[in-house]
Amino acid sequence: MDGETNNAAGLWPVLRQLAKGDILGLGDSAASPRTGSLEARTTHADKVVASVCPYCAVGCGQLVYVKDKKIIDIEGDPRSPLSHGCLCPKGAATFQLVTGSHRVSHVLYRRPYGTKWETIPLETAMDMVADRVKKTRDANWEDKDKKGNPLRRTMAIAHLGGATLDNEENYLIKKLFTSLGIVQIENQARI
Ligand code: SF4
Repeated sequence: MDGETNNAAGLWPVLRQLAKGDILGLGDSAASPRTGSLEARTTHADKVVASVCPYCAVGCGQLVYVKDKKIIDIEGDPRSPLSHGCLCPKGAATFQLVTGSHRVSHVLYRRPYGTKWETIPLETAMDMVADRVKKTRDANWEDKDKKGNPLRRTMAIAHLGGATLDNEENYLIKKLFTSLGIVQIENQARI
């Protein structure tokens, strides 16, 4: 920065605009010395790993920035032939998927007619889910239709997958639920 620019940079923004002839404030008069001192946190990454957004089947390319063995940022990969460096709001928030301080990392349960959430052990929650699946399946099993044709299904259970399920997880979910005779299997991430 030369002396004249320095002086202009220290002025009130509109005066910087006038001093630089940047009437619309779309040029560098919009930047302050503080802006100039900022740098992207990706600048100091130890390594950058190419990956794919886990949220949906579009499969936008991502770059995962790592420092001290921790993820410090996830951005779009300009080399991706699909997304050319762009990410939708979900993909752009992937960093928070793994680092978000608001993420709940324990099981919360609100019992019927309950008014507040209770923390319960994961093992207990898994047993509760398994009990409910077995009870519902047993009570609603359809072995044959009215003409005697085999059905071997239950229509009392459905599965709706979430956007962060990856291909492998979805494959296993489909196998598991189909083996239980569940036929209503869907995912919300249809784009
Ligand atoms: S969720 Fe968004 S960023 Fe991620 S793959 Fe789908 S469209 Fe791309």
